[in-house]
Amino acid sequence: MNIPMLDLKREYEYMKADIDGAIRDCLDHQRWIFGPEIKELETKIAEYTGVKHCIGCSSGTESLVLSLRALAIKIKGEEYFDRSDLIITTPFTFTATGDAILRSGATPAFVDIDPVTYNIDPSAARAFLTTQQRDDSTKIVGIIPVHLYGQSCDMKEMLEIAAQHNLFIVEDVAQAFGGTWKGKRLGSVGDTGAFSFFPSKNLGGFGDGGMVATKDDGIADTVRMLLKHGGRDKYNVDHVGYNARLDTLQAAVLLAKFKYIDEFNDRRRQIAEIYTRELSGIEGLILPCSAHTGWSLPTQQLNDSSTQLPTGHVFHQYTVRVGNGVRGELQSYLKERGVSTMVYYPFPLHKMKVFDNRSRSFGEPAGAEKAVDEVLSLPMEPLMSEGEVQTVADTVRGFFESSRQ
Ligand SMILES: *Cc1c(COP(=O)(O)O)cnc(C)c1O
Repeated sequence: MNIPMLDLKREYEYMKADIDGAIRDCLDHQRWIFGPEIKELETKIAEYTGVKHCIGCSSGTESLVLSLRALAIKIKGEEYFDRSDLIITTPFTFTATGDAILRSGATPAFVDIDPVTYNIDPSAARAFLTTQQRDDSTKIVGIIPVHLYGQSCDMKEMLEIAAQHNLFIVEDVAQAFGGTWKGKRLGSVGDTGAFSFFPSKNLGGFGDGGMVATKDDGIADTVRMLLKHGGRDKYNVDHVGYNARLDTLQAAVLLAKFKYIDEFNDRRRQIAEIYTRELSGIEGLILPCSAHTGWSLPTQQLNDSSTQLPTGHVFHQYTVRVGNGVRGELQSYLKERGVSTMVYYPFPLHKMKVFDNRSRSFGEPAGAEKAVDEVLSLPMEPLMSEGEVQTVADTVRGFFESSRQ
């Protein structure tokens, strides 16, 4: 038996006719740079997400950098932020979130996570803002909420905090394509939304790709300039730009796969539902919380915030938490039995060398430091059969039963 985290070959077989057709069209037209598929994809995703502008770019990381650079140009009238400009984010995310802040010239300010949702803890952000206000050598300019594992951050709080302190919001939507908050698509709530089309993301291409979503005409215009060397005219430019276009070929593949995104996100939710049904009640195993999602769960896992309007989790990952220092043992046990798992993420950003002396951390982000030692993501392939999901669940259960004897 072998159950991988993700099975892209299986997905390709499922959509082969669409994808092959899309690639063949590109071979025929040979318009590799800004080909017609780019505009088509941008229009479709803008409509789907409910934003005025979507701009394809070369990766999710670049979509964050382009967002931040465009905001620096808009807010400060400068090419980059300064080191004294702080941008609040979570230390429990992929490196790229923090790295993009450094590349925009600003300083990442890491605040702790909510241990239940793994997303940025609004009260930690508020506490940091209150403390930092007394320090006039720095200025907090923005916040990057990351919708980790496909689950929305508490955007009500993010919007309130941003309004109170005059901050911009860049949503890191790399893991949450199609997810919603109060009926709004994630990526449409902040000043910009930064999407990734890395192959393993919910909407993934055949290589790197990304997209910036925004309702702001000025930001959209700047992003379009920055991604092609910094000008409207590439032979006479205004800004310090990049070559960060989305490839026509990637846009063609993404258009073909986009047809399936709602079906696939539904399949992810169904798999999550089976995992939750089959794994609940195991002592020492904490299942993902959907308190903010309105998605059905055993009642003991729902807290007060479950009364909020439902938001849609898209289960980029189904991540459990294993206490008592047995995560490594569980992972080996599953591996020996052919079940792949992954740890997203093994290090919090504030402990990485790259952020040494280049970031601030508010207090000890203890929640993030605990999460890195305890989280484990189970296979989440939208085309998994129910039997395969059941096998994973049985194997996990088997570990806890055998370790109790
Ligand atoms: C994948 C990811 C990114 C970066 O996207 P790339 O397309 O790989 O550059 C940024 N943030 C998060 C949370 C991610 O998961």
